[in-house]
Amino acid sequence: MGAPAGGGGARSGAGRELRTGAVDDLAAAVRRGERRALARAVTLVESAHPEHRRDAEALIEAVLPSTGGATRIGITGPPGAGKSTFIERFGLDGIARGHRIAVLAVDPGSKRGGGAILGDKTRMAELSRNPAAFIRPSSAGVERGGVARHTRDAILVCEAAGFGIVLVETVGAGQSETAVADMVDMFVLILPPAAGDELQGLKRGIIELADLVLINKADGTLLDHARRAAADYAGALRLIRPAVPEWQVAARTVSALTGDGIDAVWDEVARFRTTLEASGAWQLHRGEQARAALWAEIEGGLIERFHAMPAVAHRLAAIEREVTMGARTPAAAARLLLKAVLAAPLDKADRKP
Ligand code: GDP
Repeated sequence: MGAPAGGGGARSGAGRELRTGAVDDLAAAVRRGERRALARAVTLVESAHPEHRRDAEALIEAVLPSTGGATRIGITGPPGAGKSTFIERFGLDGIARGHRIAVLAVDPGSKRGGGAILGDKTRMAELSRNPAAFIRPSSAGVERGGVARHTRDAILVCEAAGFGIVLVETVGAGQSETAVADMVDMFVLILPPAAGDELQGLKRGIIELADLVLINKADGTLLDHARRAAADYAGALRLIRPAVPEWQVAARTVSALTGDGIDAVWDEVARFRTTLEASGAWQLHRGEQARAALWAEIEGGLIERFHAMPAVAHRLAAIEREVTMGARTPAAAARLLLKAVLAAPLDKADRKP
């Protein structure tokens, strides 16, 4: 407590220094678990503004030693499966178990009437009022790779603020599921009580990503349907080679409404972590994710530069059109552009935008 940090006294000149001080102050407040600081920090890491990016990177660097401790859980499923109802119940039960819970909601389509995420505060009304919870709808995804980087950084910031459980929710109808699966430790798929071939809007291949499948709404008249669906999925899952050999993916029934089965989910989460930590798969997975993120950043950065290069910018539209019309093969067109880029002096191209 009581780090005088920066002091805010009159400092002359150097706006840059001031900014560094401000970022340090913010990092310190985040590490103390101050909610407003956390909210500001998440806003900062989600910003696409180049100057904010620099501050965001400095912030992440400052909090990095306090990160890595949380269990990061991805939650996905088709709209209406009961994700937000589940998260509210699961979150409140987790808090009763002594956890602090952060919820980051990722919706790459939220620009286009994705009311699901925008209404988060009302969706998880009780959880959002709980001081041990932090809920953050995220409308990331405007630019390439935006969702992934922003959310990865937001996870780190939440961890630094002392949240031991970070839930990353994604709506089940986009391209964000794989991105989210790549940044969490455990991926949970929530399904309504219906057979697989009746499911609408569920991306193919999503089952393969799951570490746990939950058939929700196992209550009242839907209980039998839910049990049957769970048995079907359990059968299907046995045919899939598990991503982690020591973890057999299960299909369980839950009711987010009554709370039935939620305790068992918490037990599964704990067992998952213990099992994978014991075998070393936990650390291995994190390392792999970090390496993949590094390459995603490199690719994203190169493509961004590529677009900005004068050697490319003025030819891109025409060449794209030629490829679309079949006048040039994609491979030949790519080679042409890359040749133009590699021949251009890098620093000059850098200064152009
Ligand atoms: P989301 O779109 O996946 O976030 O789904 P919601 O959490 O908004 O739930 C969609 C609807 O299903 C709502 O009307 C919920 O009340 C209902 N629902 C959610 N969980 C359950 C459950 O466990 N049992 C029953 N019977 N209904 C549920």
